[in-house]
Amino acid sequence: MSGTPVTRTVLVVEDERTIAETVAARLRAEGFAVELAFDGPGAVEAARRVRPDAIVLDVMLPGFDGLEVCRRVQAERPVPILMLTARDDETDLLVGLAVGADDYLTKPFSMRELTARLHALLRRATRNDTPATPPPLRFGDLEINLAERRVHRAGVEAHLTPTEFDLLAKLAASPRMVLPRERLLADIWGWADASGTRTVDSHIKGLRRKIGADLIRTVHGVGYALEVTR
Ligand code: CA
Repeated sequence: MSGTPVTRTVLVVEDERTIAETVAARLRAEGFAVELAFDGPGAVEAARRVRPDAIVLDVMLPGFDGLEVCRRVQAERPVPILMLTARDDETDLLVGLAVGADDYLTKPFSMRELTARLHALLRRATRNDTPATPPPLRFGDLEINLAERRVHRAGVEAHLTPTEFDLLAKLAASPRMVLPRERLLADIWGWADASGTRTVDSHIKGLRRKIGADLIRTVHGVGYALEVTR
């Protein structure tokens, strides 16, 4: 653990210049380095070039939309993404979470809320950056390497987003025990209320697709458990 402050770079993608500039100004005031992009192709190019620590990504963009940006960026190099969606647009929200966004805010949002969510995202992404290397957890043919944040199933690597990884690590910390969705939401996303439990469901869906549906048991109306033999 070093006490030296590290400047984190955030890529802000939004075609509405006023919103983009306002967000950028606030993030710079918080000590972040900020890069701006105003359309889909520009966002993918900027992500490749500046390798940001996080991306604040609007869904509605010219060129191609934020969902496509998310897909392309996550396929190249997983990075925490906070998606901005129009109010009540549930389709965008669910698709966004499915293509690898880690959290979302609906417009209009407060700058305070935005920075709080961003800090939480970055904490989650770096929390396991420790030099100590504990041995990987093994459950049957599932291997979870907490130090490297890598997961293999039957020897094949599953490319998880930071949030999917945290979710799996949480479930793996108490295998076979059912963890309520509200608890997962509070522990991983830092949300105190239960209004976003569907966020948990979306990420579980992504996790199942990547590591195999048989590994995660749903307890309807309650939550999820890592289903392991042995
Ligand atoms: Ca927009």
